[in-house]
Amino acid sequence: MNSKHSDVLILGGGVIGLSCALQLLRAGRGVRLLEQNTMASGSSHGNCGTITPSHLPLNAPGTLSKALKWLLQVDAPLRIKPSFDPALLSWLLHFAARCTPQQFRSGAATKLSLLQASRSLLAALIRDEQLACEFVESGTMYVWRDAQSYAEAAAEYRMLCELGIAVERLDGDAARALEPALNASIVGAHKHPDDARLRPNRYAAELLRRVRELGGTICEQTAITGFSCDGGRIASVATTNGTYSGTDVVFALGAWSPQLGSQLGLKLPIQPGKGYSITYSRPGRAPTIPLVLKERSVCVTSWASGYRLGSTMEFAGYDHSLNRTRLDALARGAAEYLHEPVGPIVEEEWYGWRPMTYDDLPILGRAPNHANLVLATGHGMLGVSLSAVTGRLVAELITGQKPSLDLAPYSPARFR
Ligand SMILES: Cc1cc2nc3c(=O)[nH]c(=O)nc-3n(C[C@H](O)[C@H](O)[C@H](O)COP(=O)(O)OP(=O)(O)OC[C@H]3O[C@@H](n4cnc5c(N)ncnc54)[C@H](O)[C@@H]3O)c2cc1C
Repeated sequence: MNSKHSDVLILGGGVIGLSCALQLLRAGRGVRLLEQNTMASGSSHGNCGTITPSHLPLNAPGTLSKALKWLLQVDAPLRIKPSFDPALLSWLLHFAARCTPQQFRSGAATKLSLLQASRSLLAALIRDEQLACEFVESGTMYVWRDAQSYAEAAAEYRMLCELGIAVERLDGDAARALEPALNASIVGAHKHPDDARLRPNRYAAELLRRVRELGGTICEQTAITGFSCDGGRIASVATTNGTYSGTDVVFALGAWSPQLGSQLGLKLPIQPGKGYSITYSRPGRAPTIPLVLKERSVCVTSWASGYRLGSTMEFAGYDHSLNRTRLDALARGAAEYLHEPVGPIVEEEWYGWRPMTYDDLPILGRAPNHANLVLATGHGMLGVSLSAVTGRLVAELITGQKPSLDLAPYSPARFR
């Protein structure tokens, strides 16, 4: 074996690749991670850090009509940039076909089992591995200013209850009593007591620390460019930094997955769902509970070390620009709901590409045509929340154990 052969070769150094690496090391396997940039510099860096078993899929009935209404509004919470990108158009058609009440409900139930498993695994992992990532079992709260929108959200409340997700429906006064950072305009809220939050860049840094301590090898500035296959297996992976091989290979390339996947004959319908965040030093009246400001779709998370406004969803292809109008919409939105919407110092303005599948479910499982390849991608809006269960399931697959959850709904073969 040459020095660039590893037991398990992991492609992609985001929170999914890192979580798989840690679980594989805990199971006694050796790992090497390949990352084109620095570790966790993609979507895993500046996201909102909420851990949300309460989160319902994006393909709710009405999502697409809202997006069409907002087509020309550059700062809309959900935006599809008009373009003739065939991959995006095909993705949108498949997505639209799934925006029915039945598909929405069954997708939510399917994803919930994964989210709930991950929520408890994550708390145990953080405790057992002593990951210092500002994890707090804080719950989350969705808040409304518009009385009609809040009244309409009763349907969402009923669905959450039917699915068995803990949720409390509160009026404005009760919401303010729980979270005094909210201003007098709030008319109602849903409190999700089982949700939590952490600081995502610290979580990734702590996963990386443990991977290194347990003997994992990290190769940064190593961009994967292609594959060589032999006898239905991946024989080697070509990079800008030489050629690597692995007895097993894990594909965890987030929003970048389709391009490299197509070289392996994999159909991975993932679009980059672009989101933004602004990180500030903590304002004096920072909320203690992470908030979703519903009409503006802005997520507010604070930690002892800082404060972040984030979210918005834009389908604009692989667009690297930092759109000032969309960034400014975060602070403008927060100002409608909070006494003190921003912190004194802007520490970072950021965008990330969520790896969005059209059924809003991740892609987890063995690749159809390569015996030594496992896929762990397409985690969409919830990759941090789903990281712990993904790592566990990938380790189970690679060590030959029976997966602790049924992987059929997440199978890569569903897109053939
Ligand atoms: C604004 C925003 C807010 C969010 N909030 C939350 C939240 O509150 N809770 C939650 O659970 N999730 C949230 N998410 C989603 C979450 O960030 C993602 O689902 C998660 O980070 C995906 O992790 P990943 O490891 O799959 O992808 P990434 O972190 O993007 O990692 C993929 C890695 O692959 C590397 N790579 C790509 N191509 C190559 C190549 N050719 N060679 C080598 N390396 C390569 C990339 O550089 C990257 O580091 C949010 C996302 C955004 C944008």
